[in-house]
Amino acid sequence: MPATSMEELVSLCKRRGFIFPGSDIYGGLQGTYDYGPLGVELKNNLKAAWWRANVYERDDVEGLDSSILTHRLVLRHSGHEATFTDPMVDCRTCKSRWRADHVKNGKCEKCGGSDLTEPRPFNMMFKTTVGPIADESSYAYLRPETAQGIFVNFKNIVDSTSRRLPFGVAQIGKAFRNEITPRNFIFRVREFEQMELEFFVQPGSDEDWHSQWVAARLQWWRDQGLTSDNLEAYHQAADELAHYAKATVDILYRFPHGMEELEGIANRTDFDLGSHTRSQADYNLSAHVDPNEDSTAKLVIPDPDTNKPIVPFVIEPSAGVDRGVLAILTEAYTKETLENGSERIVLKLKPHLAPIKVAVLPLARNKPEIVEKAKSIKNSLMATGIGRVFYEDTGNIGKGYRRHDEVGTPFCVTVDFDTLGRGDDPALTDTVTVRDRDTMAQERIAIHELAGYVRERLK
Ligand code: ATP
Repeated sequence: MPATSMEELVSLCKRRGFIFPGSDIYGGLQGTYDYGPLGVELKNNLKAAWWRANVYERDDVEGLDSSILTHRLVLRHSGHEATFTDPMVDCRTCKSRWRADHVKNGKCEKCGGSDLTEPRPFNMMFKTTVGPIADESSYAYLRPETAQGIFVNFKNIVDSTSRRLPFGVAQIGKAFRNEITPRNFIFRVREFEQMELEFFVQPGSDEDWHSQWVAARLQWWRDQGLTSDNLEAYHQAADELAHYAKATVDILYRFPHGMEELEGIANRTDFDLGSHTRSQADYNLSAHVDPNEDSTAKLVIPDPDTNKPIVPFVIEPSAGVDRGVLAILTEAYTKETLENGSERIVLKLKPHLAPIKVAVLPLARNKPEIVEKAKSIKNSLMATGIGRVFYEDTGNIGKGYRRHDEVGTPFCVTVDFDTLGRGDDPALTDTVTVRDRDTMAQERIAIHELAGYVRERLK
């Protein structure tokens, strides 16, 4: 049974060190969360899986890590200053503020009053000042999406890699949005991470590439353990599209709070490269734009057929890392009733995502030979490069198993007296017990076969 309530997940995340509320000891900072010792591993594993699939396993994608602080003109020319807004309403009774499209039945969620203002646009970008003098000329933005860093580096990347169409640029990094009402744990926050790919194509081939990317991204989420029953591709209606998009397909996931967006795959046409290249008048943003502030770059590339410089179209699969973590936790969280009537919670994570791959537990922590043997097994497993191997000597094997079930560790290895040749059965010398998280089956494995056994099953 997967997690049915957000409370169960929030509680597990706090109890076991996956995710904590940001600035917790000062009462919390709304819309921020900190990833704890296990959360950072899970998140890093998810990002590594995305990078592997979208950069290393393809021959047509390059990587990038651009800065978070962004020149205001980048976000002016991209259209974000003028249009990156959500509609906001105020409750005249209790003075709280709400995103207009989240208000149900015209009533304030806090006090139940229905005296709400008309919706007005609220720009979600965080502004800050750069340098020692804080005035109008020194402000910059924290990027609201990682994408603009890719667009403004388009020429640098083409010039330095000699790429031709079609090709893509991938980036993983923080983005910031001053959400009016952050909610649903890490689903809607003000500081989050995105895994974005801008895939540049010849105009005319964009719709075909769009469909290909929707299929590839759905398959990737299934490879991370999300089941088809909980995933859906939703085609946005014309009035839902962002200012830059010709078409967008959202990948929705059945989160504990409902079927909601996990990733958006947009056909951004030539909007961004075009607006960083041409006169802003072409894009109807001129009210805010001084022609002297146009960029100096021509973000163009030869057309594969005519060899003439063109502004390519771009397909953008844009996924939230935090929403990915939440979806994966939701799917993996399982409550089981065992034969003896007791209950166990187990995170059935795909092994490549598990924060800890193997826990090595010495049966007795006050027996130096067992401890030494267990540590040497831990070190030799680590040396095979399988990821985090955890040595844990709390001395209570049963509790250790339960804890590792809850955090999704695929294997627990127990070192005991038999391992040292001091048990009843000499045939068990130099063997260990390996316990499987999902089946709870225990097998006796020779130490020299352990690394191969684990590697085979972590795939
Ligand atoms: P929503 O409609 O839920 O506000 P969006 O359509 O504005 O999301 P995009 O601009 O398409 O989101 O951003 C791409 C991805 O970034 C989203 O699919 C989501 O996974 C992630 N994302 C966007 N906003 C947030 C947020 N406030 N908190 C966490 N993740 C977010």
